[in-house]
Amino acid sequence: MAVAAARRAFDSGRWARLPPRERKSIMLHLADLLRAHADEFALLETLDTGRPISNSVDADVPNSVYCIQWYAEACDKVFGQTAPLPDNYHGTVVREPVGVVAVIVPWNFPLLLAAWKLAPALAAGNSVILKPSEKSPLTAIRLGELARQAGLPDGVLNVLPGPGNVGRLLGLHHGIDCVSFTGSTATGKSVSRYASESNLKRVWLELGGKSPNIILSDCPDIAAAASRAADVVFYNSGQMCTAGSRILVQRSQYSAFRDFLVRAAERYQPGDPLDPFTTMGAIIDGAQYERVLDYIRIGSREALLLKGGKPRSRAHGYFIEPTVFEATPECTIAREEIFGPVATVIPFDDDEDAIAIANDTNFGLAAGIWTKDVGRAHRIAQRLRAGTVWINCYEEGDDMTMPCGGYRQSGNGRDKSFHALEKFTELKSTVLKLFDE
Ligand code: NAD
Repeated sequence: MAVAAARRAFDSGRWARLPPRERKSIMLHLADLLRAHADEFALLETLDTGRPISNSVDADVPNSVYCIQWYAEACDKVFGQTAPLPDNYHGTVVREPVGVVAVIVPWNFPLLLAAWKLAPALAAGNSVILKPSEKSPLTAIRLGELARQAGLPDGVLNVLPGPGNVGRLLGLHHGIDCVSFTGSTATGKSVSRYASESNLKRVWLELGGKSPNIILSDCPDIAAAASRAADVVFYNSGQMCTAGSRILVQRSQYSAFRDFLVRAAERYQPGDPLDPFTTMGAIIDGAQYERVLDYIRIGSREALLLKGGKPRSRAHGYFIEPTVFEATPECTIAREEIFGPVATVIPFDDDEDAIAIANDTNFGLAAGIWTKDVGRAHRIAQRLRAGTVWINCYEEGDDMTMPCGGYRQSGNGRDKSFHALEKFTELKSTVLKLFDE
C-alpha cells in the first residue's frame, strides 16, 4: 500500500511537478516545525537509542533541521545544462526525479541519517518511503506527521516501520525505482542482490567502516590529538560508522600518545542517557551489547587491554566502559567493525608503513592525519583509500557542503552536498533540431 500510495503521488505530479519554489516553501515549513518540536524529538531520540540527551539536543535535531533547510533551498537553485551541439541543434541535459525512492536507515543516528536521504530525495521531486530501523522508529513516525502538517501532499512521504524483512520486500519491489540504504555491509550486499533479482532499481549504499586515525611524529599537539581520538571513538558509545577506531601512532610518540588517550577515555563514563551531563549513554540493545563484549573477549586474547573492557550494570539498559587495546594490524579487533566503545592503538614506523596499514582493509569510509607538515599531510591523504580525510581534526568542519560516503565495501554514492541529488535523479538529454543546414 505504501508503494502504491507513493507511486500514485509521483504519477499525479502533485509534488514532482509542483513549481520548485513551492516545494521549497513546504520543505522550509517542515524544517520550521521540526525546530519548533526540537525538545520532543530530542527526547524521543534518546528514549529510543539510549544516546545522551545533550547529543540529541545539541547535534541530532539541529543538524536534521539544517539538512532539511539546506535541501529546501536547493529546490529552486539547481540548473540543467545546454550541450555544445552544432548551431542548428539545441540540446539540454536536465535532472528529473527518479520516481519512488525507498530510504532504509539504521539506529545509530536515526533522525539525522533519515534527513540526509529524504531531504535531497524530496527536493528533487521524488516520493519517498522511509523505513527506520525496528530499534529506533519513533522520530521517523513523528516526522511523517509533521510532514503532513507542513503541507506535503498525501503519499509523498510514507513512513513504514518494521523489521529487516520490510527492507527486503522494499528491495525486491518492482514498484520502487531507487533504494538509498545506510546500514551494515552485509545487509548492503543483500540490498544490491534484491535489486538485481527484481527490477535493477538504483541502489545507493552507505555502509560500515574501520577508519584509521594516523598520528605522525610531528603531530602539533599530542594531548589534543589524543583527546579528539577519544571523542571520535567513544561518541555515541562508538556506534558510529566513521569512528576512528584504528589509531595508528608513529613509534617516537607512541607511549606519550597512548597515556594521553587512556586518560582522555576517562571522560566517557557510561551514565543515564537522560542526565544532561552524561557523555556516553547506552548500547542500543542486548544483541549489540553481547556482540561488543564478544569482541572485547577476543581482544583480551589477542591484544593488550590498556583500559576498560567491562560491562557496567545499571537498572535499565546496556552499558560498557570505554575500552582501549594496544593491538597489531592483524588483530581481529583492529580489522572488523565493532560498533561499540572500543579503540585499538597500533604503533607504526614511517609514512609508508602508516599508509599500508591504513589501506589494509575492506572498508574505506574515513581517515584522520595529524601533522605540522601540510605537504606530508597531503602526500598521505592522496594515498588513502577513504571517502573523507580529516587533517589535524576528525569529524569536524563538515557541514552540508561536504559529501559523505565510502570507497570499497563502505559503499557507493554520497550523502550530503549537491552530489546527493545525483542519486535521486535521472539525467535526461533532449535534442531539438532548429533548422536544416
Ligand atoms: P543493519 O544493516 O542491520 O540495518 C540497517 C537497516 O536495514 C535497518 O532499517 C534494518 O531493519 C534494515 N534491514 C535489515 N535487514 C535487511 C534486509 N535483509 N534487507 C533490507 N533491509 C534490511 O545495520 P544496523 O545494525 O542498523 O546499523 C549499523 C551499521 O550501519 C554499521 O555497519 C554502520 O557502520 C552502518 N552505518 C553506516 C553509515 C554510513 O554513512 N556509511 C552511517 C551509519 C551507520
